[in-house]
Amino acid sequence: MMNLTVLACQSCGYRAIPPKYTCPNCHEESLSEVEIPGKGKVFSHTTIRVAPGAFSSEIPYPILLVELENGLRVTARTELEQVLIGQVVKLQKVENGVYWFS
Ligand SMILES: [Zn+2]
Repeated sequence: MMNLTVLACQSCGYRAIPPKYTCPNCHEESLSEVEIPGKGKVFSHTTIRVAPGAFSSEIPYPILLVELENGLRVTARTELEQVLIGQVVKLQKVENGVYWFS
């Protein structure tokens, strides 16, 4: 399992997925990168059947919304054939800014 680098507000502790420059919670420009465990639960999932440019050759493919610690949610790809809501998944790799969980 890998860690994810996310942004943490040094002012209020809010966590965000990059890129963000000001904290959406307290509006301070005090976001800095922190690492959190790349482990979460499947919050929801869907299958992409229409995709832009670079991804059009890969359709259909599943997309996960993974809920990490602190309730932070990240959109991710997966190589799993089947996923269930609430299933525990771990970060496998980050490729071209895309998170892959398995
Ligand atoms: Zn803040």
